[in-house]
Amino acid sequence: MLMSVDYFKKVLEDDLKSVIKPQYVDQIPRAIRGPVKSVGGLIKSRATMDNLEEILDVLELRQVIDRDVSLLSGGELQRFAIGTTCVAKADVYMFDEPSSFLDVKQRLNASKMIRSLLRPDDYVIVVEHDLAILDYLSDFICVLYGKPAVYGVVTMPASVREGINIFLDGNIPTENLRFREESLTFRVGEAGEEFIMDRSNDYGYPKMEKTLGDFHLSIEAGSFTGSEIIVMMGENGTGKTTFCRMLAGAEKPDGGKSIPPMSISMKPQKITPKFQGTVRQLFMKQIRAAFLNPQFQTDVYKPLKLDDFIDQEVQNLSGGELQRVAIVLSLGKPADIYVIDEPSAYLDSEQRIIAARVIKRYIMHLKKTAFVVEHDFIMATYLADRVIVFEGQPSIDSRANSPESLLTGCNKFLKNLDVTFRRDPSTYRPRINKQNSQLDQEQKLSGNFFFLEEES
Ligand code: ADP
Ligand code: MG
Repeated sequence: MLMSVDYFKKVLEDDLKSVIKPQYVDQIPRAIRGPVKSVGGLIKSRATMDNLEEILDVLELRQVIDRDVSLLSGGELQRFAIGTTCVAKADVYMFDEPSSFLDVKQRLNASKMIRSLLRPDDYVIVVEHDLAILDYLSDFICVLYGKPAVYGVVTMPASVREGINIFLDGNIPTENLRFREESLTFRVGEAGEEFIMDRSNDYGYPKMEKTLGDFHLSIEAGSFTGSEIIVMMGENGTGKTTFCRMLAGAEKPDGGKSIPPMSISMKPQKITPKFQGTVRQLFMKQIRAAFLNPQFQTDVYKPLKLDDFIDQEVQNLSGGELQRVAIVLSLGKPADIYVIDEPSAYLDSEQRIIAARVIKRYIMHLKKTAFVVEHDFIMATYLADRVIVFEGQPSIDSRANSPESLLTGCNKFLKNLDVTFRRDPSTYRPRINKQNSQLDQEQKLSGNFFFLEEES
């Protein structure tokens, strides 16, 4: 969709009805005033189109249809918020960060729902930080760059492919203008060329089982070495966080088994700071040595731009600021293994690119191991040397496979989702194929859901 003069004229004349999916879905329960509080009741009360049944199916809302909105998890609230926006008949639909809290499958389903709103007489506007999803969702892209709170420049609309490549590269070729030092590239073997794997430090964990209430998780045995990043991929509720907590020793496997003690530093998924004081005081207390180390300052602290809020109270930080503090805290602790649960949550695409580079370089240079849970597919494939695929029935009975190669792991993960990816021929960045496109059908027939090589 392209903004037209016609659009602005209609806005000025005020005869467009617009609906908005807000960014902060966790504030929705408090905003609901009337007597109706259930998911089903609320969504039905807004339905002025004939897509209600489809929405309930695609966004998987039937399982929570009678639940009070105040009881929903982050992902459930997000799907509810998207659903209530999609059922209304409007001229303008706006979605502010629809993918937060959702796993890859749910992000794709939300995208399909949002695209289904496109009609000749309406406008759909999306703000999105997951670039693979943005790629899949959009028809045109404008790149915005500048200095936060100082100035911003909006480029001319580019094709989706060109726009995202420009953004990742940090350079606008037509204007010969570099707006970011770092670029992200996806050359296969990039890490392998640059860094030699350290095999002197091999670790492993045995085959394990874990039961938590009604949920059961089986974990296949695995081994790993220094200088590698293992990315955990899987739907919400398949036990990724549970496995992270087991690695860190916070949860014990069933049957009195134990994981060999390892020195681990963990960034948890949920960040709920109790610390009273400023960010600087927190760092001086918990990671003093790293914080005062010039190398750590250059490699981790400066790129993540902590200076902007180093003297603010931890309790007053925004979600994205807290996330960066948590990443710095986890990397700043001396350990052999770093467990990083969902680092991209609350970060914008720019911060995701920087965080991914920081984590990768840090782990490789210090020859450490990292386990990273990540739903942003661009980040996940950039970070991963190998992957652990979680599969099975979310919230009930799941399985964590042994670590495997990026190719076979992504293939398994994408096959479960029934989605195929290709690689951009110039940047090698992974791109989702449109459902039932020729490539999608060919790749599914040949079983190649994910390509490591460039298109030939
Ligand atoms: P993921 O990180 O893959 O989204 P989690 O490991 O957080 O999944 O959770 C897996 C399942 O275990 C979920 O269904 C969750 O509700 C359940 N679960 C997690 N912790 C507990 C607990 N302490 N008691 C009962 N069930 C739990
Ligand atoms: Mg989790």
